Amino acid sequence: MKVLVINCGSSSLKYQVLDMNGEKLMAKGLVERIGIDGSVITHTKVITGEKWKNETPMETHKEAIAQVLSAIVDPDHGVIDDMSEIGAVGHRVAHGGEKYKHSLVITPKVLEGIEELSALAPLHNPPAVLGIRACQELMPDTPMVAVFDTAYHQTMPPESYIYALPYEYYTKYHVRRYGFHGTSHKYVAHRAAEILGLKEEDLKIITCHLGNGASVTAIKNGRVIDTSMGFTPLEGLVMGTRCGDIDPSIMTYIADREHLSSAEINEIMNKKSGVLGISGISSDFRDLEEAAKDGNERAQLAMRIFAHRVRFFIGAYIAEMNGVDVIVFTAGVGENDFGMRDIICDNLDNLGIHLDLIRNNVRGKEALISADDSKVKVLLIPTNEELMIARDTVWRVSVELGK
Ligand code: ADP
Repeated sequence: MKVLVINCGSSSLKYQVLDMNGEKLMAKGLVERIGIDGSVITHTKVITGEKWKNETPMETHKEAIAQVLSAIVDPDHGVIDDMSEIGAVGHRVAHGGEKYKHSLVITPKVLEGIEELSALAPLHNPPAVLGIRACQELMPDTPMVAVFDTAYHQTMPPESYIYALPYEYYTKYHVRRYGFHGTSHKYVAHRAAEILGLKEEDLKIITCHLGNGASVTAIKNGRVIDTSMGFTPLEGLVMGTRCGDIDPSIMTYIADREHLSSAEINEIMNKKSGVLGISGISSDFRDLEEAAKDGNERAQLAMRIFAHRVRFFIGAYIAEMNGVDVIVFTAGVGENDFGMRDIICDNLDNLGIHLDLIRNNVRGKEALISADDSKVKVLLIPTNEELMIARDTVWRVSVELGK
């Protein structure tokens, strides 16, 4: 089956076409500036490497998806002859709340449920709904599957997901830890077991998704038991522009002094904090490394704080699971920044974690980076959320529709 994977943002969307017979990527692309002047689609025909770009007005998500569909059937840069070759569409949906514990074929009821969950993910679920509706209008006979970023974390026990707030906020407003990046954590945990030739059910795994957004997850015997992101993707690690865990009183203290509204506070914690806030330079680790090499102390400090927080969670999860067999690094920083992986894993011999500095000198490809004498295997695994979405899409279409 060929699957179209759609990941919709408010003004952009990413897509891939995969042939699940052999899990081959056929095409991928990006539409930017939907509803803004200068809308543009960039499409790559993966088989030939050919790139095609078209700047054309796209006022709505429906117009953007129409462009995507015409790009993938185009006689020159397309990858299929006819849309009927697409057996199903997989949609990335940020928030599945407590309701959705795994991916599902999108029925009117499921779509209504996703819309209801927009209260919990006001920036992310509404664009996903726009993308789903647009696809349904343009491909009315093609099954669609929703794959939720939160679903993989739904196995957490209550002691991991209930906050120490009045319990009624959980029952009334669904305030609890949900966790995000679930599709990525799931993909790399499965892959880690595959690479090692072991069963996930027999392993204790810590997956570190370190990108612009970053989270760590503890997976014991194939089930997530804890994760660092929380009610929103703000909690946990220090990130590119997000503060992660802080004393919650800090923000009311600053709001009182700087006369800030709750929206402004949110903006500061989400967009102006993290390694950007500490360094005052950039949220991008490449820029920080340059500055750190030139002796910039705040850039050096930002990187040390980032590493400190990752180590903190690794230690916590080792305690929670009573050990760890495998640690996986993934996403932009995790896959590329060997210096950061080195600082994170430095001096953890007592916990059985020992990187091999030569093996660790690698970017963007699957590799075992721990030393032979390391009790804990440390792996670099590039994430592949789209492939995971496509796999789930095939699975649900087969389970629910028998196709
Ligand atoms: P997201 O999907 O959360 O936007 P990514 O997983 O693509 O993020 O990660 C993006 C981040 O990865 C960049 O902001 C940058 O800090 C980091 N990154 C990418 N390449 C490198 C590299 N070669 N060295 C260090 N950091 C890198």
